[in-house]
Amino acid sequence: MGEHWEKYDNWDAAEEAWDQRAIHLQKTQPIKQLVSIPELPAIRPKTKKNLRWKALNYLAKYDEENFFIRYFFSNPLKHGYNLLRSYLTPLPFNRDKDFFFYGLKDEDEFKTILAKPDSLLIIGFSYCHKPFECPSKRFTQDCIHDLNNPVCGQCFIGKCVHSLPAKRVLPVFITTVHQIGEVIVRQVQKHPKLEVTFLITACEMTLQMFGDWGNMMRVRGVGIRLGGQICNTMKAFVASEHGVKPGMAVVLGETKKRVLDLIRFRREQ
Ligand code: SF4
Repeated sequence: MGEHWEKYDNWDAAEEAWDQRAIHLQKTQPIKQLVSIPELPAIRPKTKKNLRWKALNYLAKYDEENFFIRYFFSNPLKHGYNLLRSYLTPLPFNRDKDFFFYGLKDEDEFKTILAKPDSLLIIGFSYCHKPFECPSKRFTQDCIHDLNNPVCGQCFIGKCVHSLPAKRVLPVFITTVHQIGEVIVRQVQKHPKLEVTFLITACEMTLQMFGDWGNMMRVRGVGIRLGGQICNTMKAFVASEHGVKPGMAVVLGETKKRVLDLIRFRREQ
C-alpha cells in the first residue's frame, strides 16, 4: 500500500508521476477500455418492485454459514429496531451525485470521521471495475497492485491503493455482498474502540439493496456508484455475484476525483 506515493514528498508530485506513467502506458501497452459509457437505467422498473424484500431474500438464501442470521440474533432487539427504522425511510441513504451516504448527512460529515484518529477506514473495490487484463484476475479477492505491471499502472484501483496511507486503512477487493458485509462485521467486532467506516464502490442497485443492513449495523460510510456496464436486474446481479460479469463497470470521471480527494484528506490527517 502507498508504495508509489511514499517515493514523493507530496501528493501532487506523486499523482503527477502516476498519471504521466499511465498516459505513457496507454499509448504503449493499452488495456481494454469502454469506448463509450452506456446510459443504462440504474435499476430496471420490474426489478425495482419489492427490491428490499428481494435483498433480504438474497442475503438469507446465500448466507452459507448463517453468518448474517447469527449476527442478527446476537442482538435481535437492537438489530430489529435499526432495520425497521431503515425500512421506514424511502431510501436507506442520502445521495449526492455518485456518492451515497449511509448514516451520514453529507461529505463533510464523512470527513469528520476520516479526521478522527480513532477511526478505521475500510475501502472496498468491486471486482466489476477491475481491468479485464488484471494480473490478479477479476473475480478474486486479490490485487497485487504491482508497480512494474503495465495493467496495474493504468488501473484506477491500483492508483487508489498506491495512494492510501499505511495506518488504519483496510483495502478490500470485493467479490460478493456477503464477503464485504462479513469484513465490516468482523472489523467492528475486532476494534470496539475504533469507529469503523467505509468507502465502497458498487452498482446503484447493490447500494440500494444492502443499505438497510449497513444501517442495521449502525456503521456510517459512503457507497460510490459505478457507471458503465452495470447490473440493473436481479438476474445480472446474481450472475455477477457468482463471477459471471462479461461487462465492465467504471468509476466515472468526476467521481474518481472525489474519491482521490477523500483518500488525500485521510492521508494528510
Ligand atoms: S491494481 Fe489490482 S485490480 Fe488493478 S490491475 Fe492491478 S491487480 Fe488488478
